[in-house]
Amino acid sequence: MKAPSGPPARASFAEEKKFLWLPLLLNAYWITDKGVHSRLKKEKKRGRKLACKKGCSNCCRAHTDIPVYPIELAGIYWYMAEKIDALARRQILENLATRKEKGSGGPPCPFLVDGACAIHVIRPMACRHFNVLETPCAPGEDPFFARREDVAPPSGEYTHNAFAATLPFYGIGPDTDEILAVGRLRNTQAVNLIEYNWTRLVEILNQNGSTSK
Ligand code: SF4
Ligand code: SF4
Repeated sequence: MKAPSGPPARASFAEEKKFLWLPLLLNAYWITDKGVHSRLKKEKKRGRKLACKKGCSNCCRAHTDIPVYPIELAGIYWYMAEKIDALARRQILENLATRKEKGSGGPPCPFLVDGACAIHVIRPMACRHFNVLETPCAPGEDPFFARREDVAPPSGEYTHNAFAATLPFYGIGPDTDEILAVGRLRNTQAVNLIEYNWTRLVEILNQNGSTSK
């Protein structure tokens, strides 16, 4: 992650025509990224700079609670099965196997490979929200508790709109009360990426291992 110089671009994939949920997810991530960009621009004007950069990954090693929503899980499963390169896939399988052996679902995040996020383009909104100002996180530090003033998520308007963009995935149409629907989605649908049981993903990856890149 580095300080953005211009407005973020929307990621796009040819598979958006095939998987109707994928453009919803990519739109949600784009709204989120625009919200982050807007927040960081404001912080820059205040003389505060983003500490996050590629290779800085103590957050992915320390956090125990990273909410992920069903459409985001769909994105991770798809990306892992069809897009990720073989080396990263192997490392993630190893990370997941090690966690199982240790009987632990704890950190680090299994998608952390060589100090970077192997699913960066499809990483959850919660990871996108977590931007730290001024000083990089120390090992084991969680600035959300230690120095909340240095954590710079996008404004509520952007987070709301990002969730709202995914509502059709949950069968929620435009005639519903959007504020209520987003609130319910956020309150009832999150699982924890770190504690989540990725057994099915491992099975899929092992099945695909011989045919995928
Ligand atoms: S949240 Fe902290 S550890 Fe993660 S990239 Fe930003 S400064 Fe580095
Ligand atoms: S999904 Fe990526 S950014 Fe999020 S915690 Fe895992 S490695 Fe870090």
